[in-house]
Amino acid sequence: MASLVGGNCVIVVMFATRHSVLVYMLGIAFDRAILFHRWLGRWNTILVLGHVIIEAVLHFTVGTGNTDLENIYGLVSVIAFLLVLIFSLEWFRRAQFELFLVSHLLVIVFFVLGVLHNNGFLLYTILSAILIGLDWILRLALGSVVVPSKTTLFKKRAENLVQVRFTKNSPWAKKLYGPGQYVFLNFPAISHTEWHPFSVTSSPDDPEIEVNIRALGNWTKKVYQLASAEDCVWVRADGPYGNLNLDYHRYSNMVLVAGGIGITPVIGILKEIFAGKKRRSRIQSVVMVWSVPSEIEAGWFMEELKALYQISNSSSIKLEIKVHLSKAKEVPPSPFLNTGRPDIEKYLDGATQERTPCFVFVCGPKKLVNSAWDISTKLQRKGKICHFHHETFQF
Ligand SMILES: Cc1cc2nc3c(=O)[nH]c(=O)nc-3n(C[C@H](O)[C@H](O)[C@H](O)COP(=O)(O)OP(=O)(O)OC[C@H]3O[C@@H](n4cnc5c(N)ncnc54)[C@H](O)[C@@H]3O)c2cc1C
Repeated sequence: MASLVGGNCVIVVMFATRHSVLVYMLGIAFDRAILFHRWLGRWNTILVLGHVIIEAVLHFTVGTGNTDLENIYGLVSVIAFLLVLIFSLEWFRRAQFELFLVSHLLVIVFFVLGVLHNNGFLLYTILSAILIGLDWILRLALGSVVVPSKTTLFKKRAENLVQVRFTKNSPWAKKLYGPGQYVFLNFPAISHTEWHPFSVTSSPDDPEIEVNIRALGNWTKKVYQLASAEDCVWVRADGPYGNLNLDYHRYSNMVLVAGGIGITPVIGILKEIFAGKKRRSRIQSVVMVWSVPSEIEAGWFMEELKALYQISNSSSIKLEIKVHLSKAKEVPPSPFLNTGRPDIEKYLDGATQERTPCFVFVCGPKKLVNSAWDISTKLQRKGKICHFHHETFQF
């Protein structure tokens, strides 16, 4: 049982590292792997509690051979593990993210006291430490995790939206950049320890990284305040992470659906297609649907969308841009603006064909993602083929 707990711990750790064999050999991005980490962690709780019960029964019947001190170490180790589990519950992850993150340091107590309880646990502790060590070496080598760089652009793009640009620091990491990725950012002027993920809105070919930060919670509001006071700040970056799983250049039709700030990875994808390096591509048409409450939010990226549309006019790839103002009763004359919520089924049905797979990417609130997913499934039942990829901006 103890070996089962130890072996499982190593796998749990592997699924929590940002750079792992899963990313480089199996193409499973960190944001997907973290789901397995969560479930394997829960499974580990069952194993740990099973181990405690068996040890307790043996201790009080035939004896385990462990000293009382070793048993106390084991017990405290289990308490540390259970605290990690409790602070990982959905409520803490959403409402108290920092507490959730910091409580994970108790894992050190779990491993160290686990070894003192039973030295057979040392092997699994060393293996886990190696995985974490390799992860950190790669984080340091590929990003600018320790030494910050100056932003090349740091400004309020609109009300509650900050545009940030900075140069890619590690030339050897350039090959790792792809569309739809994100980076973790840290602004030392706000905090040296807080890192938050943001989708890259620049093309992977761009020598700089651009992200756009919507002020929603505590930290992002501080970024917005900082942008009100400064026009150049130090920034540290860890990444890039994530991948789209599917190479959309192999598809002739694409539908990109975004809700609110979920537009950021979509802008990055559009830039890669229309404003990046020339690539071999089968894409013939791209339909982009963006749902925002009003004209104010539509203005965030309107200039960029117009510029991309201009480029598409001289390209062989047709680009359709549909921006829906869900709360507006009427819209000013514009080829892009529409009133009301988008009819996703109409757009997907129009863009997909039988026997020709269509690449569908959706980023936004869970409700939008789930409804687009249901519609894709419904169309598949009718014989159409949708290859679906989604993001919700939540781990
Ligand atoms: C892959 C990914 C890409 C994203 N891209 C963008 C983007 O391009 N533009 C944008 O404006 N926002 C983006 N976000 C959302 C952004 O990361 C959160 O809005 C920000 O972290 C909230 O921090 P806060 O302290 O201001 O808000 P809080 O109110 O503290 O948190 C709001 C939500 O963000 C989550 N969160 C908080 N801190 C972190 C953290 N350090 N790491 C991960 N999640 C956290 C919490 O679970 C909570 O659900 C993205 C998120 C993810 C996961």
